[in-house]
Amino acid sequence: MEDKEETTGEKLVSFGREINYLRVSVTDRCNMRCIYCMPDNVEFLRCEDILRYEELRRIIGVASSRAGIAKVRITGGEPLARKGIGNLIVQLSELSTIEDLSMTSNGLVLAEKAEALKAAGLMRINVSLDTLDAGKFRKICRAGRIESVLAGIRAAYASGLTPVKVNVVVMRGRNENEIEDFINFAVNENVTVRFIEYMPIKQSDEWKKLYVSRDEIIENAHGRLDEMEEDEEDPHAPARYYPIKGTSLKAGVISPVSHGFCSNCNRLRLTPEGRLLSCLLSNDFVDIRAIVRGGGTDDDILEAFKKTVEMKGRKGAFVAAGSSMHSIGG
Ligand code: SAM
Ligand code: SF4
Repeated sequence: MEDKEETTGEKLVSFGREINYLRVSVTDRCNMRCIYCMPDNVEFLRCEDILRYEELRRIIGVASSRAGIAKVRITGGEPLARKGIGNLIVQLSELSTIEDLSMTSNGLVLAEKAEALKAAGLMRINVSLDTLDAGKFRKICRAGRIESVLAGIRAAYASGLTPVKVNVVVMRGRNENEIEDFINFAVNENVTVRFIEYMPIKQSDEWKKLYVSRDEIIENAHGRLDEMEEDEEDPHAPARYYPIKGTSLKAGVISPVSHGFCSNCNRLRLTPEGRLLSCLLSNDFVDIRAIVRGGGTDDDILEAFKKTVEMKGRKGAFVAAGSSMHSIGG
């Protein structure tokens, strides 16, 4: 069923960048406890404080039909841990103004859900997997089994949620020696692997011990990668791609710390409790939940998006941000 809404809107622009991408964190809860993401003494939001699906549908509907938001990524916490997430996907896939509907998941329960997600209208998925070693997986993720995630990646590929991208946060002393193993994995499974520099979100200087730079990640690929591609398919994509020698595949490196990509940033973020953020690193936000629960009109929602874009700086800075990753959604 095609939604009746049409684009009547305007474009959101900040410092020459067209803002057309919204990352929506649907929950701060998770079925894993990754060491780099989930704080130990975390206090989760109350259920009533989290945006309901009909509220999300309304906000995203206005953003896409009136403010030019054409790409939406569902994230979390773990989005597949929120009950009924397939219903939200169905509702969003009916919005004709959304061109790209994707998800980021830890893959733990993906094997049993991939087909239904594809049928609901999800287009593609990124799965986070930081190690190929079962013992290390237990230490990094502190819950779940690596076999479940591997089965999830294979089910996503088989269901056509492609390209399947596998996100690897590279950490010194933990997995920086697995770069080549992940390149082999990508070739064997026909997926795109992307290595991510560890980011200092709400952390002390401790992060410096774990941080591995893009240059070092490439070095650890031991000559398996060609020179970085100059021609980017999508100039807004945070990853820079390197062809894997002897294959038609590419490996990506996302390097927000060593090579910030703020000048091309096209995204806004919505947290589970309805804070609309202009940047992952921003402490300022517009409370869009207050607008939708306070009887606000669609015009008010549009204004909230415009105001948030006005708050977007030319460049973000890695200072302790207001929320941690498990809440903003990476
Ligand atoms: N639970 C889902 C998952 O793990 O894919 C979605 C939410 S998670 C917060 C989104 C992404 O943020 C994941 O790829 C995760 O690896 C990444 N992430 C979390 N903390 C990070 C950090 N400190 N530095 C770099 N990436 C991080
Ligand atoms: Fe959960 Fe994803 Fe954070 Fe890991 S990175 S704790 S899977 S939200």
